[in-house]
Amino acid sequence: MDVKKIREDFPIFRKMINGKRIVYLDSTATTQKPYQVIEKIKEFYENYNANVHRGIYSLSEYSTELYEKSRENVAGFINAHPEEIVFVRNTTEGLNLLSYSFLWNFLKPGDKILISMMEHHSNFIPWVRLKHFNIDVDFINITEEGYLDLEDLKNKLDKRTKIVSLSHVSNVLGTINDVNEISKIVHDNNSIFVVDGAQSVPHTPVDVKKIDCDFIAFSGHKMLGPMGIGVLYGKYDILKEMAPFLSGGEMIKEVHINNIIYEDPPLKFEAGTPNVEGSLGLSAAIDYLKNIGMENVRDHEKRLTDYAFKKMDEFDDIVIYGPKNVEKRGGVISFNFNNGNRYIEKELIKNDIFVHPHDVAGILDSENIMVRSGHHCAEPLMDFYRIPATTRASFYIYNDEEDVDILMDGIKKVRKVMKIG
Ligand code: PLP
Repeated sequence: MDVKKIREDFPIFRKMINGKRIVYLDSTATTQKPYQVIEKIKEFYENYNANVHRGIYSLSEYSTELYEKSRENVAGFINAHPEEIVFVRNTTEGLNLLSYSFLWNFLKPGDKILISMMEHHSNFIPWVRLKHFNIDVDFINITEEGYLDLEDLKNKLDKRTKIVSLSHVSNVLGTINDVNEISKIVHDNNSIFVVDGAQSVPHTPVDVKKIDCDFIAFSGHKMLGPMGIGVLYGKYDILKEMAPFLSGGEMIKEVHINNIIYEDPPLKFEAGTPNVEGSLGLSAAIDYLKNIGMENVRDHEKRLTDYAFKKMDEFDDIVIYGPKNVEKRGGVISFNFNNGNRYIEKELIKNDIFVHPHDVAGILDSENIMVRSGHHCAEPLMDFYRIPATTRASFYIYNDEEDVDILMDGIKKVRKVMKIG
């Protein structure tokens, strides 16, 4: 993969701050956008802007055609049918759609939902809130190395368990959960399997038919696309039975004072004017990724992670969270300065972090190295490791070994400024 050439497609990487280029290592939060995506949005507003599924004039019909073509492209990307693709704002909205809709006609008091200790708040709060309606929520344990404890999943699955909702790839630990295996376990129990694909669909080939998940949610902005467009895939038979989430225009066939007939999926779940520009931008992002090949994206990130791990070995006071095996993790590296304790031993962790991640990120920023620090919207996971925060570097197609080397120099600067070692 020619990273230098890829970087040329991203206008933001022409930007210099204090005479130095940007080293962007926060793609887990959001990715940068290539001009192909930016231009597509501009092209839409300059040439085709009209509301969709409404007008019968040609511009509106063409705009509708473009919107539905984007849906087809998204569907093809994850091996789904277009009518199984619901456009939402982001992963968060996709998961909220499910929790609200299930509450309407799938769930009853006493039912149980299983999530895990490694979930992003977006796959945590929408389910935990259902406790208010006397729906139980239980949490699958993880191991110290950051793997999901499948035995615990099996033990906690029971007749009351209606839904299991898990991240495919952890945004903190990088752990790749074995969703194929989990799907079988969950379906053997006749439960619904929801996948939070926010950190998998952008980084690795995802085939919903192979996984056999019932739902997967992901965000366009984490895969080179614009903000404000996301996707909820759902098996059509289930979508058909579900109640709408938002209601209003676009999602109905007929409305009378005493009778409302909803549209079929996916339009039933797309009330109001949708994000047409976003769908086109996402489709352009998918074309860009397809051109590189998702296998190549995954291999590239694996190689960079491996390279970074080897480099970080140099520092014996850094602890890295999550699996050490790069085959089982994505390109997300969360770490702390940990007083010489390279391995996570719960009792040691709490008191031994001696540089706050915000200080680390601040010092790195002085070198234009952009990493995330904080709890990464995964506070239950921070509680599990008894830490307040981590520093997180994450990789994508526009990062290379040179970026890792610059990060390592940045870490040396952190050590110097903070007088470590
Ligand atoms: N799930 C995971 C695993 C994430 O990493 C994120 C964002 O970082 C989300 C959900 C929420 O994504 P969004 O903010 O796009 O809704």
